[in-house]
Amino acid sequence: MKKVFFYVIAIAFLYGCGAGKNLTTIDKGPVQVFMDLVNVTNDQVKVIVDPGAFTVGQISFRIPKTVPGTYSADDYGQYIEGLVAYDYSGNPMQVSKLDVNTWNISNATMLDKISYFVNDTYDTENEVEDAVFSPAGTNIEKDSNYMLNLHGFVGYFDGYKEIPYRLIIEKPSGLEAATSLNQVVLDDAIENGDVFMANRYFEIIDNPIFYTKPDKETFKVGGIEVTLSIFSPTGAYRASDLRNRMEGMMSAQKAFLGDIDATKRYNILLYLSTMEDTDARGFGALEHHTSTVVVLPEAIPQDRLEQAMVDVVSHEFFHIVTPLSVHSNEIHYFDYNDPKMSQHLWMYEGTTEYFANLFQVHEGLIEEAEFYERMRTKMDNAKGYDDAMSFTTMSMNILEAPYESNYANVYEKGALINMALDILIREKSNGEKGVLWLMKELSNKYGVDAPFEDDKLIDEIVSITYPEVRDFFNKHVIGNTPIDYSIYLAKMGLTLNEVEEQSGYFLQGEIPYIDVDQSNNDAIFVRKGIELNSFFKGLGVQGGDVIKSINGTAINLESIRPIIGQSFGWGPDTMIKLELERDGEVVTVEGAVGTPTIVVNKITPIEDVSDEIKALRNAWLKG
Ligand SMILES: [Zn+2]
Repeated sequence: MKKVFFYVIAIAFLYGCGAGKNLTTIDKGPVQVFMDLVNVTNDQVKVIVDPGAFTVGQISFRIPKTVPGTYSADDYGQYIEGLVAYDYSGNPMQVSKLDVNTWNISNATMLDKISYFVNDTYDTENEVEDAVFSPAGTNIEKDSNYMLNLHGFVGYFDGYKEIPYRLIIEKPSGLEAATSLNQVVLDDAIENGDVFMANRYFEIIDNPIFYTKPDKETFKVGGIEVTLSIFSPTGAYRASDLRNRMEGMMSAQKAFLGDIDATKRYNILLYLSTMEDTDARGFGALEHHTSTVVVLPEAIPQDRLEQAMVDVVSHEFFHIVTPLSVHSNEIHYFDYNDPKMSQHLWMYEGTTEYFANLFQVHEGLIEEAEFYERMRTKMDNAKGYDDAMSFTTMSMNILEAPYESNYANVYEKGALINMALDILIREKSNGEKGVLWLMKELSNKYGVDAPFEDDKLIDEIVSITYPEVRDFFNKHVIGNTPIDYSIYLAKMGLTLNEVEEQSGYFLQGEIPYIDVDQSNNDAIFVRKGIELNSFFKGLGVQGGDVIKSINGTAINLESIRPIIGQSFGWGPDTMIKLELERDGEVVTVEGAVGTPTIVVNKITPIEDVSDEIKALRNAWLKG
């Protein structure tokens, strides 16, 4: 009882406000935010935002439209309801809603605090079109777990993003926070409340908090303390099940990075979904500077879960290099409701994805052949996007058409741009320098707190490397000339050949030949701009064709799924009849499905290469 008593006092002290508060203006902060995770009904959390006194006549309160790393406009304001502003006498004030994410208060000098309820995203993903990607989403499951991606909960006042925040969270007993946000220990009597401090609003957004019944494993990689926290709905997995693989992988990552030292701690927050209609469906992860939120299905077997964690976390962890240590003003002073996007996705995502593959061959986790195979797969996947689209233009306009639909190419061509650049710098420096060296130079010059100017970065890179690097950027990154990878691979004694490979009928591995057109009643069409397999080509199907029917069955998103399933049982003589719509006309094709193959690239080492080239290749892959 005593503890509770102290707790109430502490909260009252921390959260106390009233007329006297007029003495403290908002300018220095902190903005106090109170979140109640105890009194939760209908998966809604009550949030109170209490700023210092405003001296301006009117103020806008905003919830983010978009956050760093998602590259999509998600309107987190749509999950807010019952917003009320109170004056210092405790009376509700007039609030006008300017858009889905913005509320305007005209008598700002009278404003004491704002109160509202937050709905979570996981249980409505199924119903909403363009649902928030689960790792950026929120979950409110009373007494079980709370995924607090704080951009869904905590707003900011226009013009006051650079002031400190104090976050006070009342939590159910038995649940514990996992986060990289700075926790303040005020009094051991605060048993059911946690207090966190952020130096500015960015830190609030950059540090998700995951409340669960504690299931954590902590280990050291180099000087970094890594904590893995898990929520597994049926208890099928524990953090200890994944610890060894994570520890081995991240130790290898740290060995690869060497002395890049951007953070002292790193949190992996893993949410495993039941995959039911009311649970998370967007699997993968979202990076933050010193943590990552990972969402995966609980039902997959341990070896696949481990592999998914290796693939996802190795990428996210390398984000401690960029953007954490190397980023531009656009990211440092991110505008959550009218974002200016940086030109350098080739680096933020491309370098990160390239390192996530290179470190594995570098540290002996995979063979050279496997590394070549991965780069080759990226070349083939990149064919699904516009190869003649300037990467810097795409990056700056990534929230808009036609750039938005090319976003995923940052993980394919983005990585290959870095491979070619790495090879070029290795060649010019006799193997001594590469992209990792470059990133170390940039991170020494800039670092966590010093953003670069977006349009000066390439000049800077050229100035510390070679004139050929400028040509490379001008042609292939700023310009729209596709890269001839064979030229770069040849410098390393490798050839790029076309070979015929087995394929599925509708999928090559996990990548489908077909897609859904959401703007055309979910029509199923054959993807354009990609290499089709012998099944489609043999029948005379072309990229862009809409599949109207297969063997008389009308095709839509529902009916195509079982047909894809059945196709795994088809033999070469299975007959098929497709009704296609091409340029507004109906075309019918039919014939035997055959044995599907596809022409793909293959990277092979040349047998007799000079010792010089061998040494260069070694420096690239093992240096
Ligand atoms: Zn990334």
